[in-house]
Amino acid sequence: MSVNRQLVVFDFDWSLADQDSDRWIFEVLAPDLRRKMRQSKDAVQWTDSVAASLREAHARGITREEIEQTLVSMPFHPAMVRAVKDLKAQGKTTFFCLSNANEVFIKTILKSKGLEDLFDEIITNPAEWDESGLLKVRRRIDPSGPQHKCSVGCSPNMCKGEELIAFLERHQPAFDRVVYIGDGSNDFCPILRMRAQDRCLCRSFRGLQKRILSEGEAAGLKCELKYWGGAWEVEELFKELH
Ligand SMILES: [Mg+2]
Ligand SMILES: [Zn+2]
Repeated sequence: MSVNRQLVVFDFDWSLADQDSDRWIFEVLAPDLRRKMRQSKDAVQWTDSVAASLREAHARGITREEIEQTLVSMPFHPAMVRAVKDLKAQGKTTFFCLSNANEVFIKTILKSKGLEDLFDEIITNPAEWDESGLLKVRRRIDPSGPQHKCSVGCSPNMCKGEELIAFLERHQPAFDRVVYIGDGSNDFCPILRMRAQDRCLCRSFRGLQKRILSEGEAAGLKCELKYWGGAWEVEELFKELH
């Protein structure tokens, strides 16, 4: 089948980036808050936990500049930068970012890699700096309004499967091929929405692989699966998409 128009969907943390931005910030700047987030992770929704930890960090004097510097120094593989720039330069690929991080973390990091124009759309949790240097993060789905209807296990802040379907509806006609790069258990819902001609590039030994192996067949997973460990392997796999 010839592919003239394809979509590449990227999860951000541990997929495009080689770390988890929500955790990295606190591991570097306030490890006690990182510990607290882990201890409360079953009781507090994750986006709310990040927002509360950012407020606490701000109250103890951690600055916007320190947070930005920490984001820019987060591991991000040069092979991944090459891989996405090469594929984009081929001209037939639309890039879409679907992430449970937040707008400020993602845009700050992309800009530092010269990738600020990579994505057509970034769907994630909203975030903004206030004048005092506090980064205010909130859930994409407001907890006081209607909630998503996903039963696959997406976090209340966002259903990545519903967001993928909504993106595809906004960008008709259908893409010849959709390629999803992900690592986490919350990437399982969107790949269930994909077709036989689509492809998932799954990072090995993490939550997504576990769910694919334990639930994939019963859930009717149809897309082709390729596994990778390091970004240099994504670069190889992307050459098949040129
Ligand atoms: Mg991830
Ligand atoms: Zn879902």
